[in-house]
Formats: sequence, structure tokens, C-alpha cells
Amino acid sequence: MSYNIGCFVCGSELIYLNKYSKLECYYCKNVFESNVACSKGHYICDSCHSISANELILQYCIQSNQTDPIELAIILMRHKSINMHGPEHHFLVPAVLLTAYYNMKNDPVKKKEKLIVAEKRAKNVLGGFCGFYGCCGAAVGTGIFMSLMTEATPLSKDEWQSSNMLTANTLQSIAKAGGPRCCKRDTFIALLETIKYLKEYFHITMNHNSECKCEFSDFNKQCLNNNCKFYNK
Ligand SMILES: [Zn+2]
Ligand SMILES: [Zn+2]
Repeated sequence: MSYNIGCFVCGSELIYLNKYSKLECYYCKNVFESNVACSKGHYICDSCHSISANELILQYCIQSNQTDPIELAIILMRHKSINMHGPEHHFLVPAVLLTAYYNMKNDPVKKKEKLIVAEKRAKNVLGGFCGFYGCCGAAVGTGIFMSLMTEATPLSKDEWQSSNMLTANTLQSIAKAGGPRCCKRDTFIALLETIKYLKEYFHITMNHNSECKCEFSDFNKQCLNNNCKFYNK
């Protein structure tokens, strides 16, 4: 992947300077002395460079003020620890939705609490769930989000219905788009379905990047190209 050679954030080339200066890490926002950044000024600290996918998602979402789940997803997807396809997307979906929602409500404490639970739940949704179990993990991710947002349990009434309904709507939409699986396409569909559901049933408007153009198609051997609505060539 070209992002592995250049900057994770934008793909630009890395510039090594003679002088060290104080640079803020793009992901964790801590400040370090460093002499390497990309030509657009993005700097990534050593621990964020080698962080695992779920840890990156958790830490980035905890400190982010972003309220656009699609923008958040794209920033995270650019990091090399998030594979083109992989079960980390099962956590990424509820994580960016919880982050956008609790940032809109200005409630960082609840956000962190729920992100930690979402990670635990998403770990049970294994890789290949889509093809082997007939239930895409990105769709389950929307159910995890709704369950945490409404504090649903197996005994709840409306909350139980919303959690299952959102997963069902998302899964329907993902299935209609057709195989083979693409964790980027399925994530975008999951986020758009959730935005639609929140507006319709909760009167919550989550502002988002309406463009939603995929920048990962070069890395996907099974990309549907012009048959995918997010394809951008
Ligand atoms: Zn950059
Ligand atoms: Zn960092």
C-alpha cells in the first residue's frame, strides 16, 4: 500500500529534517521532539506508528472532537494498522458512531465508557462473519452502536427493536450491493444507514461528508469498481 511508504494520513512523501522541533502527533495529539513529518506537515509519533488497530481506534476516538462519523472512519482507515479488509472494521463502525454521537452531546465521559464496551462486544464478531455466517460484521457494528446508545438489553422493548432494526436495514443494504465483501464499502453503507435511521426515528441529524468517495480501491483486488457507489475514479 502506498500509505505504508509515505504519510499514513495523506500518502505524501516523508521529509527528514536536520533540526528537531516540537510536533503534535496527528492521532494522539501529544507533542514530541521529532525531525520527520510529511510534506503537508503530518507527524505520527512512534507509539501511534506501531499501535494495534483496535487500540488506535479507541485512543483516536477518545481524544477526537469530530462529529462526522464518515470523516472519522476515513482518517482511521488511512492508518497502516487498519487493513484493507479485517475484523477491526467491526469495532470501527460502532466506535466512530459513538464518537460522533457523544461529541454532539458534548459528553466525553459517556463516550469513553461506551467505546470500551463496544470494543469488547466487537471482538466477538470474528473475521469472515459476512461470508461464513451470513451477517456482515459492519452491520452487527451498527447494532452494537444502537444497543449502547439506547442501553438496550435482551429484555428491552423499543431499544431492542431499534438495535435489531438498524442491523437489519444495514444488512439488507449491504447484501443488495452484492459480493465479494469489501470492508470499506460495507462500513460506508453501515454509517449511512445509521445516519438515516437516527434522522428518521430519533430526529437526530448527524452532519456528514455527503461525498463519501472511496480512496482505497487501488488496494482492493476484488473492488467492484464502477459497480460500487463509492468508487471514485
Ligand atoms: Zn501527510
Ligand atoms: Zn501519537
